[in-house]
Amino acid sequence: MMLKEISPIEKEPLQLVDLPTPTPGLKEILVKVSACGICHTELDEIEGRLQPNLPIILGHEIVGRVERLGYEVRKLAQGDRVGIAWIHSACGKCEFCQSGNENLCKEFKGTGCHAHGGYAEYTVVREDFAYPIPQRFSDSEAAPLLCAGAIGYRDLRLSGIKRGQTLGLFGFGASAHIVIQMATYLGCEVFVFTRSEEHRNLARKLGASWAGGSEDEPPTKLDAAIDFTPVGETVPRALRALEKGGRLVMAVIRKRNPIPSMDYAQLLWDEKEIKSVANITRKDAQEFLSLAAEIPIIPEVQEFRLEEANRALILLKQGKIQGAGVLRMP
Ligand SMILES: [Zn+2]
Ligand SMILES: [Zn+2]
Repeated sequence: MMLKEISPIEKEPLQLVDLPTPTPGLKEILVKVSACGICHTELDEIEGRLQPNLPIILGHEIVGRVERLGYEVRKLAQGDRVGIAWIHSACGKCEFCQSGNENLCKEFKGTGCHAHGGYAEYTVVREDFAYPIPQRFSDSEAAPLLCAGAIGYRDLRLSGIKRGQTLGLFGFGASAHIVIQMATYLGCEVFVFTRSEEHRNLARKLGASWAGGSEDEPPTKLDAAIDFTPVGETVPRALRALEKGGRLVMAVIRKRNPIPSMDYAQLLWDEKEIKSVANITRKDAQEFLSLAAEIPIIPEVQEFRLEEANRALILLKQGKIQGAGVLRMP
């Protein structure tokens, strides 16, 4: 399913095309894709809030099996089950790469954005950027772990939250419903802010001690909050709910509308912080996959056929997917 030009998703811009099977380079593997998660980042790419290299095959939550190896592939073998996440490659040499912040590398390439991704039957990636998938997950269950989960893990890590503290989650889609399971496992009390009554019920089922709307006041101040919503208004609301010295982590790449102007004394003073999250490192993906298997975190998924990608993304935009959407390959 290929994106050739920027367009609103309602116009169904992804087209089913027939392409030759890619050939892996020296250190690359050819992966036969079996499942690929769908993500808000894809809506950002399709609608032009992010600039993908067009034409592009989207998709960065890929699970499949190694079908062919480049001549210099050493660690993986044919038939191995692997996952591919948002980080498709980084230079490995710059200051950021050397200090464990390869997510900030200037040559960072995103899967399904700067390199072809997983809305396809086959894809190629360097073997160093593919991860073994723990056995307890099915292909569809593992797919959303690779973005929603791995980035959620990074969000939670950057929030600085500790055992016994209070955490607010604004928005309750694929990533948040994984983060809540990690946070409760780590001994935090979780408060969920979402419009949808369905999502509130799911939040309570997954251990939220309170669920309400983003304009509602939670029963207690929050030590940290993570904002998963694509709208600017959530930022002042989340800051208002924060305890002094609390930190707000913004988990989205782009907001659909501007953050409203804010009263400094009311919302930011008292050493409150705002931190954004950019990309992920391989370490985030690897650590998260083991944590997810240990807890365990089994995402709730809704499956679609590959050729239904447009419809699945429209439902995602409308907030009508329960848990995480996953495309299944023929
Ligand atoms: Zn994603
Ligand atoms: Zn680098």
